[in-house]
Amino acid sequence: MDPFSEVLNQLRPGMVSLIGVPWDENSSFMRGPARAPARIREVLYGGSSNLCSENGIDLGADPRFRDLGDLEFPSGVDALAHIEETMENLLDREVSILSLGGDHAITYPIMKAYNKKFDKLNIIHLDAHPDLYDEYESNRLSNACPFARIMEENLAARLVQVGIRTVNPHQRAQADRFGVEMIEMRRFQPEASFDFRGPIYVSLDMDVLDPAFAPGVSHHEPGGLSTREVLHIIQNIHAPVVGADIVECNPTRDPLGITAMAAAKFLKEIVATIIQSN
Ligand code: MN
Ligand code: MN
Repeated sequence: MDPFSEVLNQLRPGMVSLIGVPWDENSSFMRGPARAPARIREVLYGGSSNLCSENGIDLGADPRFRDLGDLEFPSGVDALAHIEETMENLLDREVSILSLGGDHAITYPIMKAYNKKFDKLNIIHLDAHPDLYDEYESNRLSNACPFARIMEENLAARLVQVGIRTVNPHQRAQADRFGVEMIEMRRFQPEASFDFRGPIYVSLDMDVLDPAFAPGVSHHEPGGLSTREVLHIIQNIHAPVVGADIVECNPTRDPLGITAMAAAKFLKEIVATIIQSN
């Protein structure tokens, strides 16, 4: 039996499984996010903080949390199909998945897997960018495109985007075409809460944070959210969260590990939200 099947067999319904997806080949501007899962784990488990969420769920002791390590990409494998198939295998075990990217291109195959299990999820997408390009530099699978693919294939009941501050006319037209609910940064209210019915998937691009809080991303886009504002959003989702990803942390631009630590903090809070909301 391969090691991953053994891991699968240890999973029980209701668990939250963390899996690294170290893959950044569809990054449109700069490579680096493939190194994020290792770096985020290094700071998460590095001893400078503990493994508790702010409401006291201890990832180090809670039997519902399981870190599965990183997905491996054998040479020549179709990476996106491999991601989709792995997620499907995990979802067959009735677990929730928190994926650590990698770049944002991984969200499309993840949502394809979720759509086989759930009847269209609501997505909360936190990002400086809408990622709605029909294609980017001739690549329809670019990290600038995942939400165009997701909406085209009808994989979401609602797509609510928060923190957006880079909309051009093409992406504005795409958002209108797909009925995307966009909460742009220029209109963002810090006390915003979101009214959802039905299960939710959270897709968190680290560049939603202002570069002052998270310099370790490929696309520095000033005028973003604070770490606290993102935590407030995560802690105030009042509907079951069944999956999430944290993407676009780029360790090559993060010499002090500040961005990796922010990602580790979000990881703990998202796991706590998944556990509490289900
Ligand atoms: Mn993105
Ligand atoms: Mn982004």
